[in-house]
Amino acid sequence: MVNINNYIDIVGKEIIDGLFIISEKLEGKMIQHINSTSVGGGVAEILTRMIPLLKQLNVESRWDVIKGDEKFYAITKAFHNALHGVPTKFKKEEFEYFVEVNMHNSNEMIFDGDLIFVHDPQPICLVEKKIKSKKKWAWRCHIDFTNPQNDVMTFLEKYIEQYDCSVFSAPAFSRKLKIPQVLVSPSIDPLSDKNKELPEETIRNIVEKYGIDTSRPIVSQISRFDYLKDPVGVIEVYKKVKKYNDCQLVLAGGGATDDPEGMKVLDEVKEASAGDEDIHILFLPPSSDIEINALQRASTIVLQKSLKEGFGLTVAEALWKGKPVIAGAVGGIPLQIKHQYSGILTYTIDGTAFYLKQLLNEPNFAKEIGLNGKNHIKDNFLITRHVRDYLLMFLSLLNEGDVIYFDN
Ligand code: UDP
Repeated sequence: MVNINNYIDIVGKEIIDGLFIISEKLEGKMIQHINSTSVGGGVAEILTRMIPLLKQLNVESRWDVIKGDEKFYAITKAFHNALHGVPTKFKKEEFEYFVEVNMHNSNEMIFDGDLIFVHDPQPICLVEKKIKSKKKWAWRCHIDFTNPQNDVMTFLEKYIEQYDCSVFSAPAFSRKLKIPQVLVSPSIDPLSDKNKELPEETIRNIVEKYGIDTSRPIVSQISRFDYLKDPVGVIEVYKKVKKYNDCQLVLAGGGATDDPEGMKVLDEVKEASAGDEDIHILFLPPSSDIEINALQRASTIVLQKSLKEGFGLTVAEALWKGKPVIAGAVGGIPLQIKHQYSGILTYTIDGTAFYLKQLLNEPNFAKEIGLNGKNHIKDNFLITRHVRDYLLMFLSLLNEGDVIYFDN
């Protein structure tokens, strides 16, 4: 486990001291996080790193994961897509089954946190237990809510409004709700295996193990195989650019236990890339953090051609490594990238191909935007800022009207 004081070298002592000053006011409180997967995807990534840090700040935290079957996760994935604006038809019994699985989980779980912090739509109906528990409940939304499908949104709002507070990743996702809404952007952990510095030799060994040539440009997208990450679009971009610039494409990613679509997308990706030895499709097992770190660090340019995106941790991860990133101008990505300053924002395959060629041809410009990106992530999207935002939110929810003094 990383010692919280190790962050001092990166963010400075004052920031860490500040966390202890706030967390003192939460002593004895327990935060109970609940989501739907312990591995894969951004939510699990953040909770894995966040909970040990909260513990070191003496804020007791527990993390529970709901259980569901294949049918439940097919429904929640369809919800996820519909909330991201992908037109999807639902039957009444699918909503009913969703509630049934939630109720089954709620009967098996113990809600003993002072604050029950529920992440994303999958476990959202657990809040029905709130009436009996008299605890504070917060709902944390990690997805892009700019254009949700009405029927799913209306269904969810019935539950969202039972919470004491809702938390969104970007201002564009906020809704007209009867409960308070808080903006907390996600973050990356600079000391995790995924983001820590790696020796050049380790990077080279890992990348060469996958048959990638480190002497030629590497363009990568490292993401779950998901339609909304548009991996087939990335292959089209690469094919357009490859006519003019020698480069290799790496598409790497694994699945998440709550995402049943991954294999189908992976098959389509393999079909679209067949016959080109410079396209490397890597299906990564869970806990491939060092491999992902090495692949990101070995990349000349990182793509994240998402069509919808909650925040896009992969963008922050690549920028933190000083990489020039070209990403879809969707969801939380524009919070991380100011176009042509801390990265490149694009809307289409042609636009992405245009900028990929430009960055391959202008390495100085590519380096400059990568460095600007790194500074932007350092100032805004590291886990220490995220912990602070959460502590303040916990405090505002759990404080019962006492006047709080922060002593230095
Ligand atoms: N990730 C991973 N293994 C993979 C693919 C992704 O560990 O095979 C990580 C990735 O490095 C990032 C997170 O999962 O930390 C994905 O978060 P993001 O916000 O980019 O997208 P999400 O998957 O939550 O839609």
